[in-house]
Amino acid sequence: MSEIVDDIKFIDEEGKRIDGRRVDEMRPLKIEAGVLKRADGSAYLEWGDNKVMAAVYGPRECHPRHMQNPSRAIIQCRYNMMSFSVSDRKRPGPDRRSIEISKIISEALENVVFTENFPRTSIDVYIEVLQANAGTRVAGLTAASVALADAGIPMRDLVPAVAVGKADGHIILDLNGKEDNFGSADLPIAMIPRTGEVLLMQMDGHMTMEELDLALSYAKKACQEIYDIQRDALHRRYASQAGTEDDNDDDDDLPDEEA
Ligand code: ADP
Repeated sequence: MSEIVDDIKFIDEEGKRIDGRRVDEMRPLKIEAGVLKRADGSAYLEWGDNKVMAAVYGPRECHPRHMQNPSRAIIQCRYNMMSFSVSDRKRPGPDRRSIEISKIISEALENVVFTENFPRTSIDVYIEVLQANAGTRVAGLTAASVALADAGIPMRDLVPAVAVGKADGHIILDLNGKEDNFGSADLPIAMIPRTGEVLLMQMDGHMTMEELDLALSYAKKACQEIYDIQRDALHRRYASQAGTEDDNDDDDDLPDEEA
């Protein structure tokens, strides 16, 4: 393993990374809101080579009942990686990693949703990773918050998230697969740009305080960029909905002529 790590040169003489990006450059990000008819809210995201679908149901009565909270809604998130999302087939079903990611995403979202408006209910968030190339937890959270907004669930704000890390002694924004696997630090962060509030922060590896400051400044700038893309996805969603309101066909189980 160390041979492979030593062999990789993460930053070249011109300061470019292995995929040609600058250290503070994000991979291209596209988000589309309201892509699934059956869910109350949904979003599809492509971020570099990551492809992620998020769907939201609720608020709906929480089952099993012993999980109900009489004063607020609970957010139950399920993050799942498809077997075909990574190069070696991933064993289907939950594992320690997906349970951890589901938990941290639920907790981040519980801090922005007005859960006290919906006592005894559950808001269910499903995140399916169709294709993975590092940063899927931040991609999942970014998509999930758009899906919650698409479901009309009242929230304090959207939650943009990004990973910052370190490779070859440089702080780099939005790690790709190789940088994540063989770099020396990975720091996923979710931050509300309006307030600077941090909703998620994990650290795998080591950074000095100066490096952490630089990483946070990259993350802050990127979160603003991601936030604008999230808002734009919702604007496009509502603009298209307004344009097609008369054509809305809720009997969509039947072909048009029989409906
Ligand atoms: P994140 O996706 O948030 O960066 P990790 O740091 O745990 O989360 O994972 C980094 C990357 O490693 C994933 O995005 C994925 O590309 C890859 N990966 C994770 N789990 C597996 C797995 N079971 N098999 C193959 N690759 C995996």
